[in-house]
Amino acid sequence: MEFDLIGRIRDRTAQLRDDVRLGIGDDAAVLAVPPDHELVMAIDTLVDGVHFPHGTAAADIGWKALAVNLSDLAAMGATPAWALLALTLPPSASAHARTAFVDGFAQGFAELALPLRLALVGGDTTRGPLAISVAVHGLVPAGQAITRGGARVGDTVLVTGTLGDAAAGLACLRDGHVGVQPSERAYLSDRLNRPTPRLAAGIALRGRASACIDVSDGLLADLGHLCAASAVGAEIEVAALPLSPAVLAVLDATAARDVAFAGGDDYELCFTVAEAEVSEVIGKLARGGCRATRIGRIVKGEGVRVRDAGGGWLDIARKGWDHFAP
Ligand code: ADP
Ligand code: MG
Repeated sequence: MEFDLIGRIRDRTAQLRDDVRLGIGDDAAVLAVPPDHELVMAIDTLVDGVHFPHGTAAADIGWKALAVNLSDLAAMGATPAWALLALTLPPSASAHARTAFVDGFAQGFAELALPLRLALVGGDTTRGPLAISVAVHGLVPAGQAITRGGARVGDTVLVTGTLGDAAAGLACLRDGHVGVQPSERAYLSDRLNRPTPRLAAGIALRGRASACIDVSDGLLADLGHLCAASAVGAEIEVAALPLSPAVLAVLDATAARDVAFAGGDDYELCFTVAEAEVSEVIGKLARGGCRATRIGRIVKGEGVRVRDAGGGWLDIARKGWDHFAP
């Protein structure tokens, strides 16, 4: 049975790469790392009911399980190459339900993986409460990975895309979409279920961004991590936050600001660039189809401070999603 499931996954994600010397089917995969490159690796787990609402479509779970990992590679400026997949499937479901889930999952995974030429090279399939771990492996030219630790005082802080869409989408889902237009609902639920990893932007930022992090737990929390790693502080302008028309339509101004600051699951990139290079970087990302917005500045000190439209400092109590918060 498990072998049948593995075969179904393999068939649906099949991807020819000549650097895959040995893929699914042996005890381990064998991969050829190109000369003068470094391997960049990340892993993330999605648990049913914790990282996605129970009942989320299998294809959406397949997409998202890969997307959240690719977002970590994007933040490092890496080009994705290979992935491993550990699937834990509930024993209670019938064989038919398991097959249907695996087919849907593999299809969503493949929709994201195939255009990127990412090869699924192995994994593990086991029984238990529904959970998915994906490990991704990417490549950067040696020494060119972008880290959280390089931001310098005076650098500009930027973010790709718009913030708060996924949290607004989740709120709409929980509230039963009362009063939400179908087009806004579709946009927000897509942002929640099918996040776009900013891979091209990450690659374009090699050698240009002084530091970068992906926004998975909320802007303030993640920018806080970047600041701590760089031993600097940041000042952010509320008025500069990039908000989508859908977020502004479904939330009032305060709630929109709060999801932009503290909502998780956006998978945008927050990065820092020397002031002299900001316009060029924004233009370069725009030519790749990715909007980037200046939201603040790196300063001496520590922590993230937020200035409101009137120029005063804002007290933001909830800084981000914490799985272990009481
Ligand atoms: P082993 O017992 O040696 O770990 P398995 O029976 O778990 O091997 O897996 C057989 C092959 O199928 C291995 O190549 C493994 O990487 C692959 N595989 C298992 N589960 C998955 C999965 N969910 N996705 C992709 N490949 C998988
Ligand atoms: Mg073995």
